[in-house]
Amino acid sequence: MSIYDVIVVGGGVSGLLSTLVLSRNGKRVLLLEKEEQLGGVCRSYKIDGYTIDTGPHIITRLQHGPLKDLMDDYFTVKPTFVPHGKYWVRLAGKLKPFPWNIRGWAGFSGIPLTDRIRLVKMLYDVAYGAKTNPEDYNISLGEYAGDGFNENTLRFLDCMSYFMTGTSMQETPVARFVDAEKYKMKSREEKVSLIRKIHSLLFKEGAIDQTYPLGGIQTITDSIIASFPDNVDVHTSEQVTAIEKGKQFIVSTDVDSYSAYNVVYSGFASELPSLVKDLPGDYRKNVQNTKVIRSLVIWLGLKDCLFNKLGSEIWVDSEKYCWVVPTSNFDSNLAPRGKQLAGFSFILPDRYDIEKEKKEALNAIYSTIPVLEDAVEFIHFQDLVPEKAAWTVSTEFMGSHSPIDGLYLVGTDTEKKSMGITRASYSVLNLVDALKKDKILQ
Ligand SMILES: Cc1cc2nc3c(=O)[nH]c(=O)nc-3n(C[C@H](O)[C@H](O)[C@H](O)COP(=O)(O)OP(=O)(O)OC[C@H]3O[C@@H](n4cnc5c(N)ncnc54)[C@H](O)[C@@H]3O)c2cc1C
Repeated sequence: MSIYDVIVVGGGVSGLLSTLVLSRNGKRVLLLEKEEQLGGVCRSYKIDGYTIDTGPHIITRLQHGPLKDLMDDYFTVKPTFVPHGKYWVRLAGKLKPFPWNIRGWAGFSGIPLTDRIRLVKMLYDVAYGAKTNPEDYNISLGEYAGDGFNENTLRFLDCMSYFMTGTSMQETPVARFVDAEKYKMKSREEKVSLIRKIHSLLFKEGAIDQTYPLGGIQTITDSIIASFPDNVDVHTSEQVTAIEKGKQFIVSTDVDSYSAYNVVYSGFASELPSLVKDLPGDYRKNVQNTKVIRSLVIWLGLKDCLFNKLGSEIWVDSEKYCWVVPTSNFDSNLAPRGKQLAGFSFILPDRYDIEKEKKEALNAIYSTIPVLEDAVEFIHFQDLVPEKAAWTVSTEFMGSHSPIDGLYLVGTDTEKKSMGITRASYSVLNLVDALKKDKILQ
C-alpha cells in the first residue's frame, strides 16, 4: 500500500481548499468524501430549469479577506463575482436600507428615536470604544443592550443576532459584530484617526464587500477542483469510519483503508471521538460541546419578477425571521427566461417537526407579501446545516491542532471569525500556519 503525504477527510469547501493548498505545496494528497458529489454545503443543482444553491449564499470579504488570499495564491481558475447590492430591512410593514451609519439610523423610523440614539452610541462604543480586542466583547448582545428598549428594537437586535450566528441575542456575542471592522483595520495596518472614525460613523456604507458568484455557488467548488494539480486523488462515496495512529496513520472507509503521514479532518469535530480512539477526555468533551444550527430554506420560482431591488431582504417582523435572496437578480440564467428565483432562509428550532416548520414558513412568506402566492410556480425545500458550530458566548473553538500529532482539523467548527465560506477559508489559513509551525509545510 503506497503512503500518501496527507489524507483529507471531507470534500466541503474547507477540505477542498486544504487539498488545494497542500497539493500545490508538493504534497501527495488523497481526498475522501462520503457523498457522491464534492462541495458539502457549497453546491448548486438544477431542477425544472432553476439552478438551486445549497442555501442562499452571499460571499463576503473579497477585497481584503481569507478567500481572496487563497484565490490569489492557489487558484488557476477563478469564479466571477458580481456585487450583492444592499441589505434591505422589512420592519413595521416597510422596506428600508439597513442602517449602517447615523444617516441611515436617522431615517429608520420602524424604531423609536430614543432607541435609535442609544443604538448609535452602542455602535460607536463597539466599533471604536476603548476595548481593542474582539475577545473583550465575549458577552451576549442581550446582556450588552440591557433593559429599556422598545419591543420593535429588541426584535430587530434579536433578528440580527439570528442572521449573524443562527442564535438569539441572549447567545450571540457582541464580538461577532466587531470582528469584521477589526479585520479590515488590521489588514490595512493603519491607526484610524478621529476624523475618519466620525466620517465612518456618519457616512460609511456597510457590507459593500459582498458578492455572488455567477453561475451559482457551485462555481466556487468547481474552481477549486479545476485548480488541483495531478498529485491529488479524489474518492467520493467513501465514508471514513476510523482514523488510527501507528507509525503512520491508517484511515479506514466503508470501502478500503489507506495510509498517510498526516491527516486533515474536515467533518464535524463533534464526530471525531467516534473515529479516533484515545482522544483525551477534556478534548472529547470540548469538541462535543458545540451548538449546531439547522436552516430551513424554501426556494420559490416566480412567474413574475416581484423582487426588483438588487440585494437581499431581512424580514424582522414577519411571523418568523427570514432572509430573502433573489439569486436570479444576480444571474438571470439561474431561472428560466422571464422568471425569478428567490431563496427564503429560516432558522429551525432545536427540536422540530419539519412538515410543521415548512407550513409555518410558507405562511410567513405569503402573509408578508401576499402576491407571492399567486406568482409561485415552483417550490423546493432544503433542511441544511450552514456551519458546523454556531459562534455563541459559550462555545469553545478548538483550532487546527488536535491532541494527536499529525492529525489536524479544519472547517467552520474550528474557527469562530466571520461566517460561512469566509470562516471556512480562515480555518484553512489557520491550518497552513499550524503545518508551517510543525515544519510539514515550508
Ligand atoms: C442556508 C445556508 C446559507 C448559507 N449562507 C452563506 C452565506 O451567505 N455566505 C457564506 O459564506 N456561507 C454561507 N453558508 C455556509 C457555507 O456554505 C458553509 O459554512 C461552508 O460551505 C462549510 O464548509 P465546510 O467544508 O466547513 O463544511 P461542509 O460543507 O459541511 O463539508 C464537510 C464535508 O465533509 C464530508 N464528511 C463529513 N464526515 C465525513 C466522513 N466521515 N467521511 C467522509 N466525508 C465526510 C461531508 O459529506 C461534507 O461534504 C450557508 C449555508 C447554508 C446551508
